[in-house]
Order: sequence, then C-alpha cells, then structure tokens
Amino acid sequence: MLVQNSNDIFTEAVKVRKKYCGNRAHIRGVVHFSNYCICDDLYCGLRKSNKEMERFRMDEDTIVCLGCEIAQKGIKTVVLQSGEDPFYTREKVCNIIKRIKEKHDVAITLSLGERDYDDYRAFRDAGADRYLMKHETMNEKLYERMRPGKKLKDRLNALEFLRKIGFQVGAGNIVGLPFQTIDDLADDIIFFQDFQPDMINIGPFIPHPQTPLKSYPAGSFDLMLRVFALTRIVTKNTHIAAANTVATLKPENGQLLCFLLGGCNVLMPNCNPFPKSREEKVEFEFQCAPAKRYVDIEEAESVIKKAELQISKDKGHSLKLKGDL
Ligand code: SF4
Repeated sequence: MLVQNSNDIFTEAVKVRKKYCGNRAHIRGVVHFSNYCICDDLYCGLRKSNKEMERFRMDEDTIVCLGCEIAQKGIKTVVLQSGEDPFYTREKVCNIIKRIKEKHDVAITLSLGERDYDDYRAFRDAGADRYLMKHETMNEKLYERMRPGKKLKDRLNALEFLRKIGFQVGAGNIVGLPFQTIDDLADDIIFFQDFQPDMINIGPFIPHPQTPLKSYPAGSFDLMLRVFALTRIVTKNTHIAAANTVATLKPENGQLLCFLLGGCNVLMPNCNPFPKSREEKVEFEFQCAPAKRYVDIEEAESVIKKAELQISKDKGHSLKLKGDL
C-alpha cells in the first residue's frame, strides 16, 4: 500500500494488527527484582554512576512469590526484569525459573541484560521461554556514546544466539535519544523488518535528573507513535508492547493511543508490591525513568478494553512460531 500521511500509517497499522494478531491483546506481569546495574548507560537512572539512586534487591523467595501471585491472577506470562546484576548468578536465576515453573503453567520472559552465553543456555534449559533485550538504537556510534564500554555488535550477536538456542526473542529501541536522527529511527524499523523479533518493546527517551542527559528534551510522543505504527506494518504479527515509559510520557492516554493508532497488542504492568496510598513509600522502586508511571494489572485491563480488544487468557507465545509449544 502507498502510505500518504500519518493517518494512513495509523489506519494501516491497526488493519495489520487485526489481520495478523486477531482481536486479542496480552498482559505480561513484570517483577522488577533488582535495580542494581553494572552498566553506565547515559539515559538510565539505574546506571552505576548514579549514587543517589536507592537500590534494592529482592531475595529469591520474594521473586518466586511475586511470580506465583501473577500466575494466580490468571496472567500467563511472568517477566523477570532487573538491571545487569551479577549478584543473581546463573544458579540463582535458574532456581527462580524452575520454582515458578514447578508451581504454575506460565511462560517466563527474562530481561536481565547481557550475560555469559552459558548463562543463556542454562536459563533456557531451566525453562525460560523468552528473552527481552532492547537493541536501543541501530546507530553504532550513538549506541557506543550512550552505552559506554558497550558494542552494538555484541548485543545483536546475543540476540541471534538467544534465538538460535530456542528463546522467543524481544528487541526494542528508544525514540528521541539525544543526537538520534530520523534516519537512525528508520534503521531501527528496518532492523525490526529484517530480524522479525518475536516481541518488540518501544519506548520514549525520558530525561532522568540523575543522569548526564538530564537537560535534554523527552522524545516526541507523535514521532514515537509513528515508529510504533511503521513497526507494526513491517513486522506484521510481532507482539508489540506499549511500554510503561509511554504512560510516563503521556499519562492520560499514551498507551491507549499506542493501541488505537500504533498497532500495539501487549501491556506489561508492574507487579511489584504497590503501597496502599500514594503517600506511602514504594518498597521496590525501579525508577529507570524519573517518576516512572507504573501501570498495574487493573489499568492494563482497562486500556485493552477501551481499545475494544479481548484480553488473552493463554500464554501469548510468539505468533511467528508454528505448532504448539
Ligand atoms: S538501561 Fe538497563 S543495562 Fe542500561 S543502565 Fe539501565 S538498567 Fe542498566
């Protein structure tokens, strides 16, 4: 189809989602179990140089217990997410995966950053189904500038390896990074088209006051929406999540618009324990973005209903895989 303007892109994105993903949307329950990180990414509040950040690590039992609570609420995917934190050794992560899987029939997604390749293998053998690792930007120079000491090639190789050993693989980018160009975003979309990730997580840049990028403007919501829509068009049946940072950037209806115009079909509510009132301190506060707005399960359900989609009751495995898992 010949896309003339943004409205055409949005109409097409929703049409493509309907054709390839049907009328169901998926909820993945996320446990943010550690906000320690050995990386120093310029855009992230969890970067190791940020000494003002209050850090937490959950113990194994707490993580398993939160994973089980998610399953008991009828959500069939548990996402275990942390900064890159070697405190959680291969053995510890494998135990957590096994303990949740023994108790509940759920899919497990890991989002732990880059690890040793033998770790990936062990996590897969322990029963983890998916691995989410955003590529952040396909501009090599920008990647190295934003992620000191890191190479884009290593990340892309890791994604390839994860796929090779049987993980459903998730990539993703940041829209509106300082120094990013429209061409860079086009390259991200071309990467999505070529790699065809099983899942994609797109989010805006949000300046964190405790990072070197604190005075740069946040990413544009409208531009991000176009990235979502074009990504849906070129990836067809990939699961595409409207990240919680979208809700931070546009709290009123950001995620809903990502569904109504951008062709999203996944939400990933935060399932860490919430305080009973706004005044109470959050015990495990991830805060990679400032004042990050965490959408809970109820709110995620409400967004999906407003988008006139049904909430999927199954594990919502990759639509790119053939046959049963
Ligand atoms: S984006 Fe992830 S890897 Fe980078 S500093 Fe933040 S938590 Fe660490």
